Amino acid sequence: VIIREDAIQADVRRTVRDYVAREAPLEQVGVWERAGEYPAAFFDGLAHLGYFGVHLPEEQGGGGMGAAAMAIIGEELGRGGLELAVGYGLQAFPAANLCSYGTSAQIAAHLPRVLAHEARFAVGISEPDAGSDAAAVRTSARRVPGGFVVSGQKLWTSGAGVPNTTLQTLVRTEPAERRQDGLAVVLVPLDAPGVTLRRLSTVGRHLLGTYEVFLDDVEVGEDAVLGGPTEGWAVMASSLRMERIFAAAELAGCARTSLDLTVEYVRQRRQFGRPIGSFQTVAHTLAELHARLEAARLLVYRAAQDLDDGSADFGAGSGAKLLCSALFQEITQHGMQFLGGVGYTTEHPMERLWREARSVTVSGGTSEIQRTIIARSLGL
Ligand SMILES: Cc1cc2nc3c(=O)[nH]c(=O)nc-3n(C[C@H](O)[C@H](O)[C@H](O)COP(=O)(O)OP(=O)(O)OC[C@H]3O[C@@H](n4cnc5c(N)ncnc54)[C@H](O)[C@@H]3O)c2cc1C
Repeated sequence: VIIREDAIQADVRRTVRDYVAREAPLEQVGVWERAGEYPAAFFDGLAHLGYFGVHLPEEQGGGGMGAAAMAIIGEELGRGGLELAVGYGLQAFPAANLCSYGTSAQIAAHLPRVLAHEARFAVGISEPDAGSDAAAVRTSARRVPGGFVVSGQKLWTSGAGVPNTTLQTLVRTEPAERRQDGLAVVLVPLDAPGVTLRRLSTVGRHLLGTYEVFLDDVEVGEDAVLGGPTEGWAVMASSLRMERIFAAAELAGCARTSLDLTVEYVRQRRQFGRPIGSFQTVAHTLAELHARLEAARLLVYRAAQDLDDGSADFGAGSGAKLLCSALFQEITQHGMQFLGGVGYTTEHPMERLWREARSVTVSGGTSEIQRTIIARSLGL
């Protein structure tokens, strides 16, 4: 279990922490959020540091540092803002799919540009009638001479509106008795003829935006399928396992910032002649949240190391995501309460953190689905 980081991991953590503090302080993220602006220069700088491929095999141009390094980056980006981490993850998981399942031509066409942040990926699994039940996707890829025609609709596609984005999308290629069969992951450039986007009006997710994607007879070549034409479920499943661990790490970072801001506030705010943090009900609540967050964080790194070691236990990543998402919500809920009226203004970052926290027990697989995965790992 990684409790002590090695020197290289510690260096990655320090570098990302410094970079976030310098380029994306909380106030700046608030400015981007209010403007609904994608912070392209922030991600350019992260790419320049060489971190988009930190988890990928060295022979494919990655850093060869595995899920643990990716979790460290996720936690540090999450300390700055949920969407800094989500924007990174949206490149990291599809890039991993590309390296595991892509042909050398597909890797050459996409990977260098994504690692340099000149091009981007978005992930299109969810549809109006396929949320938790992802195998229910109806968007189809019909074989035609020279390629496929993709038709259907995706929903909640985060980051789809950023220029030069290619969708990695789960589509049905053939009817199948077992619904997980007959699916493929197809690469669809979002500026292709037949693609229309509609940005959804949401409580948060304002830097990346989340979109409805309408695919109206979009023509793609033979080389657009990642993995085999009926291998889509396995392709997505492999990156979802990594995504849950990364999400848990980013949420631990978000929760830590929310807790730190609350502690800082209750130490300086005085009522009845003393800091409100000296009232036992406030101090004990924050002490307990601190202890639970430290424990959940250890589970994140245990899950990351399990993945790097090739362990087949799917429960740890889901457990980490379940606990860290709940803690982020709980901590921001208490943060809003202990900040009193100040929490309700849009002049303090707590309200943004609180709004962001609302999405995290839903996005990336709901808490109910994480419990189902854990239950399965227990043989239930
Ligand atoms: C901000 C945000 C960004 C997102 N970004 C992306 C993205 O980039 N790409 C993408 O593909 N998707 C994305 N999603 C979609 C996300 O993965 C889905 O919202 C999620 O999987 C839940 O699906 P749903 O919203 O259809 O809810 P539903 O599946 O309809 O679930 C509604 C409720 O029913 C519960 N439920 C459903 N089935 C069960 C069950 N078997 N047992 C117990 N309870 C159950 C759920 O847990 C939930 O509480 C995003 C979502 C959000 C909110």
